[in-house]
Amino acid sequence: MRIAIVGSGQLARMLALAGWEMGHHFTFLADPGEGTRCVEGLGPIVYSDQYQPGEALFDALGHPDVVTVEKEHVDVALLESLSTYCRVAPSADAIRMCQHRGREKTLLQSLDIATAPFHVVTDAASLSEAVNTVGYPAFVKSCEQGYDGQNQWLLQNTDELAVLALKMPTLPPLVVEGAIRFDRELSLIVARSVSGDTAMYPLAENRHREGILLTSEVPAANISQQTQQQATDIANRLLDHWSYVGVLSIELFDEAGVLRVNELAPRVHNSGHWSQDAGVTSQFSNHLRAITDTHPGNTAPAGYAGMINLLGRGADPALLQASDTALHWYDKSIRGRRKVGHVNLQSPEREQLQQRLSALEAALYPAGAPL
Ligand code: AMP
Repeated sequence: MRIAIVGSGQLARMLALAGWEMGHHFTFLADPGEGTRCVEGLGPIVYSDQYQPGEALFDALGHPDVVTVEKEHVDVALLESLSTYCRVAPSADAIRMCQHRGREKTLLQSLDIATAPFHVVTDAASLSEAVNTVGYPAFVKSCEQGYDGQNQWLLQNTDELAVLALKMPTLPPLVVEGAIRFDRELSLIVARSVSGDTAMYPLAENRHREGILLTSEVPAANISQQTQQQATDIANRLLDHWSYVGVLSIELFDEAGVLRVNELAPRVHNSGHWSQDAGVTSQFSNHLRAITDTHPGNTAPAGYAGMINLLGRGADPALLQASDTALHWYDKSIRGRRKVGHVNLQSPEREQLQQRLSALEAALYPAGAPL
């Protein structure tokens, strides 16, 4: 099939790499000025500002059978204009909800899915009232365009609230969240095809450093039947609500076995990259299967699998000589704490996987050193 991907970053790259093997052909829709190095050579790149939405853009994209996304921050009107001509999956409505933390949390609440206590605020008075209600520490996040801890403030006291309150006239709408004293962070990646067939990867346990995902491990340890059931219910409620098509990623807080949703991503997710090398159908292949109405493939690894991100650095050749590591490099320039690649690992034993992940982490990011 011909598939157009909105976005041209590493997720688009990995979708296309998986799709080429399946015989699909790709075009990429980039915003003006968006970096496209990740997808060069994988299909034509079309710039969104050079075509009128609708038919002209559909023509420029090469009459795709399906349009999909690698990110939630996309122009929804543009997706709607394309949906007259071909399938858009996930739907513009699902993407619109997931690109705004306020809308997303309100929807979760309406579906009876637990989140952190939250309030959407637009001015200094509503900010103060919300922080006073949820208490300190309070997480404050912009409703749109914030990810990997960007556009976020952790308020510890009234002085910090006063500083942020002064800035409110220049800030976009924010969500104020009460702090959850979670034991760990998990994520759930699920896929639903056009025909409604679903598949769920095992819950992943994720560790972050400085607000950015560092490692993922599957299956997460010590998941009780009740916790798994909660995760399954959350996923099914969301998939049913949207008649969702594609991969949906659900970030969760686990507080003594009780789950709350932190965030949704209507796309493949960094915490699912382990699936590329674990003897299962990868999240990238399953997304493509789902949007082309193919039954999802196997999601249950035989052993244990993990992933460590390469943040602002390459992998030393010595690390890559190990027979259990697989490098995925995005062909991006290295700067700051940018995600430029990841290393996947597998092991027949959980303990061995954890030791290997810790050893890789110590080698890549010496203890205490900033990322
Ligand atoms: P986010 O951008 O919403 O994924 O937040 C980045 C990270 O901040 C999360 O992975 C958590 O570690 C932490 N965090 C966010 N919101 C909360 C919250 N309400 N309570 C506790 N920790 C949080």
